[in-house]
Amino acid sequence: MFRGLGGLRGSRDFGGHPTVGGDPSTWGGGNGPVKGTSDFGGVWGGSWGWGSPETRGGGVLGDLGVSGGPRTLGAPPPPVWESNSFAVGMFLGRLNTEQVFPYPSALSEEQEQTLQELVGPVTRFFEEVNNPARNDELERMEDATMQGLKELGAFGLQVPPEMGGLGLSNTQYARLVDIVGQHDLGVGITLGAHQSIGFKGLLLYGTPAQKKKYLPRLATGETVAAFCLTEPGSGSDAASIRTRAQPSPCGTFYTLDGSKIWISNGGLAEIFTVFAKTPLRDEGTGETKEKITAFIVERSFGGVTHGAPEKKMGIRASNTAEVHFEGVRVPAENVLGVPGGGFKVAMNILNNGRFGMAAAMAGTMRGILAKAVEHATNRTQFGDKIHNFGAIQEKLARMALLQYVTESMAYMISANMDQGATDFQIEAAISKIFGSEAAWTVTDECIQVMGGMGFMQESGVERVLRDLRVFRIFEGTNDILRLFVALNGFQTLGVQLRGLQKALKSPLGNVGVLAGEVTRRLRRKAGLGSGLSLQDHVHPDLQESTLQCLELFAETADALLLKHGKNIVDEQFVLKRVADSAIDIYAMVVVLSRASRSLAMEQPTAQHERLLCDTWCQEVRGAGGVLGALGG
Ligand SMILES: Cc1cc2nc3c(=O)[nH]c(=O)nc-3n(C[C@H](O)[C@H](O)[C@H](O)COP(=O)(O)OP(=O)(O)OC[C@H]3O[C@@H](n4cnc5c(N)ncnc54)[C@H](O)[C@@H]3O)c2cc1C
Repeated sequence: MFRGLGGLRGSRDFGGHPTVGGDPSTWGGGNGPVKGTSDFGGVWGGSWGWGSPETRGGGVLGDLGVSGGPRTLGAPPPPVWESNSFAVGMFLGRLNTEQVFPYPSALSEEQEQTLQELVGPVTRFFEEVNNPARNDELERMEDATMQGLKELGAFGLQVPPEMGGLGLSNTQYARLVDIVGQHDLGVGITLGAHQSIGFKGLLLYGTPAQKKKYLPRLATGETVAAFCLTEPGSGSDAASIRTRAQPSPCGTFYTLDGSKIWISNGGLAEIFTVFAKTPLRDEGTGETKEKITAFIVERSFGGVTHGAPEKKMGIRASNTAEVHFEGVRVPAENVLGVPGGGFKVAMNILNNGRFGMAAAMAGTMRGILAKAVEHATNRTQFGDKIHNFGAIQEKLARMALLQYVTESMAYMISANMDQGATDFQIEAAISKIFGSEAAWTVTDECIQVMGGMGFMQESGVERVLRDLRVFRIFEGTNDILRLFVALNGFQTLGVQLRGLQKALKSPLGNVGVLAGEVTRRLRRKAGLGSGLSLQDHVHPDLQESTLQCLELFAETADALLLKHGKNIVDEQFVLKRVADSAIDIYAMVVVLSRASRSLAMEQPTAQHERLLCDTWCQEVRGAGGVLGALGG
């Protein structure tokens, strides 16, 4: 059944999109410029997750670790009631299908063609020029690789063409990152640290003058960028950084002092996005508080030094180093965003980049799966090819499943972003968690399928396993991101409940709100179902896989919030399980959507996708037990 992994293998060469069907024309449809200046919903505990009352409308939990004022850029966030995010809706007991059904297509014909033109050369570059084993051994990228990537335009994928970049959409970017992830994660980190985090702040928050000054040379790779947040005493608790920038009395510059650690590209970069505490006077109270501000810092300002390259377990091709700032004089016009708004800048940069990590992981898994299949179809033991053994088939099937889910998430989120979604932070965090864990499992299982050969350096798989480990650690550890997923969801639910409480105080003026929400809750409590069904959206062949989980999830979330109130923030056992359920359900919806689309379009891979989808949904339904136990 899974012997040839036909669906996946057969479509691997497809330029526009890796495994969704095989028809590039299906990737038509509108697509906007890079959005995302307003997708950030908050920070938790002063650190990763809670929205401020201004950004999320306050709420039952709004007094917890709120950090920040109103958004400074882009459109204001949608009020909780109007969020189109499926994940937000899940917590609120609402069915927000707009972003998930039908499976989104975000490439115009022209964009599709541009992508086709890039996929070939980029793939060939990684197959013929780049040598991942050599990069790993050298603990840096070979010079030819670095030069070749610059010539390909790989350092400025999303920089607007008028500033020397390729101006790619998120979906186009995801496809190319997918290819990089398939071949060399160390190179991927160099490119990602440069553009996904290093100068992303300029794209999202830069003034026209800042963009004009810095982007052209960054886009060509003439200058390399790095993102400097982490410090010896500040990792997950990013708000606790100690690097300081003291404004000059004349107000024209800041003096920056402090040290950052584990900075990707730290030893190569000329341009740094640096986060530092700055004193800010509150005009209301007259008090001065230390708040984080983001700065664009040039090495050429003087006072910027770096340490030796770190010796690492994996991604050795990438440079990781300490970066020190000593009395660096940073012009006031190099503040990114507004003074005091740096925490939000940092979180928004990370939120905007997470889909890329899932895309890279999808590529990694595609490459690894191919290796496992190749070995299994050639290796004979006990007189038979090992791919004929059920135990091997099950491994390959599970690997294919994890790849399919990750890939489906990555391209759904990138398309959502391209179509102008502003509320996707929970989904983006889910994709990073899911992708990094799936890739680890798939690579580990590949080694198992390959037996002793998988353990040998020669196979190239042990390097991938080493490279992958850090993806569960950086850009928000998966543990912290699980808290982020659950707490963001609970926060929106808290806002909704508070709205209900208010409405109950003057029921006559709030008949509409009360009728909808109270009825939904009462029906759910009575086990009657409140309309959280995907029946109308899912292809008839997949009906067996539709969800009862959404009802259970919404009911459990309500019960947990009512039980713990604002103390939910400390209930990490509960939060982790809620996050795991949210991840499973989102994954299920994503594959239901993608398989439905393939079935509806009668794509050659449709039946294979149906099988993957059904299998995934069957497995996830087991998660209901966890939720039931939690809510009780
Ligand atoms: C190779 C590499 C490259 C990197 N590149 C960059 C870069 O370019 N720029 C940059 O700024 N940083 C970078 N980092 C830093 C990275 O982002 C941090 O390592 C990461 O944020 C975690 O911080 P930490 O390592 O200090 O772990 P800690 O924050 O000390 O966490 C240790 C453990 O405790 C857990 N934990 C912490 N707090 C809680 C809590 N409240 N509840 C439950 N569990 C908790 C964490 O999940 C983790 O498992 C890089 C790191 C590595 C390894």
